[in-house]
Amino acid sequence: MKPLKPKLNYQRPIRDNATPAMSQWFDLKEQEPNALLFFRMGDFYELFFDDAHTAAAALDIALTTRGEQQGSPIPMCGVPVRAADSYLARLIKQGFRIAIVEQEISPIGTKGPMPRKIVRIVTPGTILEEELLDSEEPNLLLSIRSYRNHLGVAWCDISTGSFETKSISQESLPELLSRLSPSEILSESSILPTEFSDLSAPVFPTPDLKTSEKLLSEAVGKKIELKNKEEILASGSLLHYLRKTQAGALPLLHILDHDERSILGMDGPTRQNLEIVKSRRGEKKYSLLWAIDRNVTPAGKRLLKSWISAPSCCLNIIEDRQSAWELLSLNNFALQQLQNTLRQIPDMARILGRIRNQKGNSKSIIETRNALIGCDEITLPLQTILTEQKEKNIPPNPFLSKILGSIYARADQLKDKLVAAFPPNLNNESIIDGFDSKLDQLRYIQRNSKAMILSLEKNLKEKLETSSLKIKHHSQLGFIIEIPSAQAAKIKTKEGLILRQGTANLKRYSCIELEELSVTIKNAEEEAEIEEKRILEMFTNLISETSELDEISQALAEIDVLCSCATLKNEKGWCRPILTETPECHLSGSWHPIVATALKEQGKNSFIPNDCELFPAKRLMLLTGPNMAGKSTFLRQTALAVILAQAGFPVPAKKAKIGIADRIFSRIGASDDLARGQSTFMIEMEETAAILTQATEKSLIVVDEIGRGTATSDGISIAWATLEALHSKIKCRGIFASHFHELANLSESLPALSLYTMATREWNGELIFLHEIKPGVTFESWGIHVAAIAGIPQSIIKRAKEIRKKLEDHPQGKTQLPLFENISQPTIETKNDKLLEYIQKIDPDTLTPRQAHELLYELKTILED
Ligand code: ATP
Repeated sequence: MKPLKPKLNYQRPIRDNATPAMSQWFDLKEQEPNALLFFRMGDFYELFFDDAHTAAAALDIALTTRGEQQGSPIPMCGVPVRAADSYLARLIKQGFRIAIVEQEISPIGTKGPMPRKIVRIVTPGTILEEELLDSEEPNLLLSIRSYRNHLGVAWCDISTGSFETKSISQESLPELLSRLSPSEILSESSILPTEFSDLSAPVFPTPDLKTSEKLLSEAVGKKIELKNKEEILASGSLLHYLRKTQAGALPLLHILDHDERSILGMDGPTRQNLEIVKSRRGEKKYSLLWAIDRNVTPAGKRLLKSWISAPSCCLNIIEDRQSAWELLSLNNFALQQLQNTLRQIPDMARILGRIRNQKGNSKSIIETRNALIGCDEITLPLQTILTEQKEKNIPPNPFLSKILGSIYARADQLKDKLVAAFPPNLNNESIIDGFDSKLDQLRYIQRNSKAMILSLEKNLKEKLETSSLKIKHHSQLGFIIEIPSAQAAKIKTKEGLILRQGTANLKRYSCIELEELSVTIKNAEEEAEIEEKRILEMFTNLISETSELDEISQALAEIDVLCSCATLKNEKGWCRPILTETPECHLSGSWHPIVATALKEQGKNSFIPNDCELFPAKRLMLLTGPNMAGKSTFLRQTALAVILAQAGFPVPAKKAKIGIADRIFSRIGASDDLARGQSTFMIEMEETAAILTQATEKSLIVVDEIGRGTATSDGISIAWATLEALHSKIKCRGIFASHFHELANLSESLPALSLYTMATREWNGELIFLHEIKPGVTFESWGIHVAAIAGIPQSIIKRAKEIRKKLEDHPQGKTQLPLFENISQPTIETKNDKLLEYIQKIDPDTLTPRQAHELLYELKTILED
């Protein structure tokens, strides 16, 4: 679950008669009323008034006071500057926005407090700091703008510079948002689905088309031709917001060009039900992502997440991925070499992100170089694999060749161009040594300043013939010569000494040599800083402008994901599925990747593999069986196998042949959303409605219990009608699990429906679950038995058994449900559909009166037919 955005309950205090520093605070707070103001005061960021109350509570730090305003103490809390990132991380996690206010050097001669300004606004979608970001997760800022009935959506991960846009309908918005799972959204509240409203930024800019185009070209470094105006507008809002939060700077972004049409469709509930990237508890553990992740780099983990969140419908993409990891899985030595090298390579995409957002330092340059050096070791095993293929006259693997192409030539050139000259080692994370002779000289002076001062002190002692002389650094006077007054009086000649301060006990002097030396030391310090900054900028600019680095970092992430797939195959025996264009799903010996792993973790190596057979002539499966027998597990493992296959990954099965689906729908388990005013049954029906209105012949549907949340007769009727529609109208593939065993009667009228059940065995009145799928129907749900296992008191169990016996002896329920006798296909519905279809095709404006008259007769004939 995303955190709820806390309300900033900002009550404006009265600013009259504020001190000069507090006046600055009032001015800046007015600029960013919706952000907590981190107001720099020396070594602390301080927060005042309501900000202080909010932050103290959110961070669990002391609330105190500083000064007064209008006669009342000003509430205040503070965090040390050097530890600010950890506090920022906690506030960002709770959904706050923070405006960072820094103090600037005041021009010489000016009075009053140091000038201060907002240098950055940190919001959940604009984080750059390594400490605040999750290395395994993309961090997306997303913007939505509407233009003539269309929505433009633009999203970017500023931490890596990736940027995408899409034009969609209002109906498709929730699905896109659930897939992307952004951290922050810029949108009008009327457009944004309520479940995402907590993520929306309080205010956002809406630049016009021309400004948006200009911003876009600036951000990607070239003129961009986006087809749709709504996409340009959405990009404009996003970039304007980025510029505002980064104090005027616009990061360099690169547009990713995905064919969004070829993505397997899955709505929000399906993603949640199938626990694709998060478990029901909102954690990665026990999700599909967790079960398949064998990546060794954070960039690879981020790419894995994006591939599994958006499986493909394009056979070429899927097969390219498959053949690449299969080849890797057959070359275990190369696989190990690749993974060992990848482990050492720094996260290039995030380093580039930092550099392009003016947060680069010498460590970033060293890391870029190390990444490029690491590329050599990546290319070697890839070359070996591809050469072996060539020797066997097999055409080179297209995906691995592409990756090799991206890394090979470029990395070599870039190493020389960008970083070969850079010093191999840094003194610490920021100091460059041994690169530039001028800088080395300045650093030499800095490092030897103490020795130089001591040497001057020694000379002066000898010259003035006094041993009690000392050179010290004074906060206001700078370097001075200190001599106790009594000793100073005894000095014969004070030639060259300039008295700066004198008391009864102590005299402070200066002299030409000392003044010259202090200027040299001070200049060296300042010049070294400028020189070092210049060198750093030279390298970071070069790196920032080198777009080939983006290609290399993408290739490194891709090879990591492919290695992860190969490992999964070798380690766990997952198979390479055959993908077809036929609506089918054949799985033999398949298992649930999460349940099987979880059982293993509990020391039970007992997952029972199962087969699944769905094909055009028997495309729907009705699965009955007792509670706890494994129906949901089977349903989910089938859907997950299709998702994995279409993401181009191995599948947990001995063998798999899967027809590419256009969408997957799952309706699994009971849940409610009280906050949105949705009851359990309402949600169940909404999810069923989505299936019935959006599914096509190419879709895969897994339905676990429809109609359990209402009266039996209503529920069974809804389940019945839904099953009929799936079979005869939508004609999709799917598994329909139900405790309404009466539905089995439908197999006589629905030829493509096959009946399956979960095998069990009775032993001394106890039920043993075999967790095996077999043809047939189960008429007994064993609900009371499972209730007893769950701990329902024996007295209740006994009473329930008595009631059940009575109901069985007097089956009123059954007599009340004539529904199940002699039911054939829904003729009225078919007729209505036909009529509707006919009417929809009519264009009244083009009809002559005679044609209209004839049409009426035709409609009547359909009705009477
Ligand atoms: P209900 O009708 O009560 O919802 P169900 O038939 O859907 O039950 P599941 O929830 O799928 O049953 O499975 C119950 C438990 O049985 C799982 O949590 C798992 O521990 C175990 N299980 C399911 N399938 C298998 C299997 N193939 N091999 C081993 N254990 C299994």
